[in-house]
Amino acid sequence: MDGTSCSVCGEKLFAHAFAGDGGPLCGLCQRVPPPFARAVAYGAYQGELRDLIHLFKYQQIKPAGRLLAKFLALAVADVSLPDALTVIPVPLWPGKRHARGFNQAEEIARELVRAQSGPANIKLDSSSLIRKRDTASQTGLTRKQRRANVKGAFAVANKVNIKGRSILLVDDVMTTGVTAAECARVLMRSGAKQVFVATVARATKDAVNDSGSTPGHWDGRPAAVAAAAGVATATIVAPAASQGGN
Ligand SMILES: [Zn+2]
Repeated sequence: MDGTSCSVCGEKLFAHAFAGDGGPLCGLCQRVPPPFARAVAYGAYQGELRDLIHLFKYQQIKPAGRLLAKFLALAVADVSLPDALTVIPVPLWPGKRHARGFNQAEEIARELVRAQSGPANIKLDSSSLIRKRDTASQTGLTRKQRRANVKGAFAVANKVNIKGRSILLVDDVMTTGVTAAECARVLMRSGAKQVFVATVARATKDAVNDSGSTPGHWDGRPAAVAAAAGVATATIVAPAASQGGN
């Protein structure tokens, strides 16, 4: 992302920031350090990147997901991660997962792990972190309300898989970081060694209240998105269209 951002949570910094040994910190991370070691995002949740995420999430255009995973890999490459890494997608409430047909975070995480090459011991774990209850939409809520909204929503199903592990928590979008922080807190409480957070996009503070659009409100601009992402429209559209063929 452009400009200076917090070295821990990735929030964009406008004012002159305190620069400690670990890099600049936002006011919030100075006051209350989050439970994750670092959070990285490929880009801001706006424009073409936001369109591409919607294309994948709500229109289920699978090649868009692979592209998002590539973007995520670029963001992750900026962080020095340990060789042994467990990649955990932020879980969806089963009801929501069923309605959507898939968990976009899980698909992106799986693609990220699949595309890894070399000796690194990186594996996907999409069952150890579970969502215990659905959470109301975070749109329009203050940070404090959002925190209350997600409190107790996540749990670790199998602590053996978490204890002593370095975790890379993956989601498509980070809005305020409250959900990621809650997941990280639960993982740390279950004995994780450390938790890193990687999202494809990150909402900047001024855009937070504009980030809760629903599928029905998306007007769809695949050509513009594809052009912006450097992918021919045919590449994105063809596989989905051909599924009904044979
Ligand atoms: Zn911060």
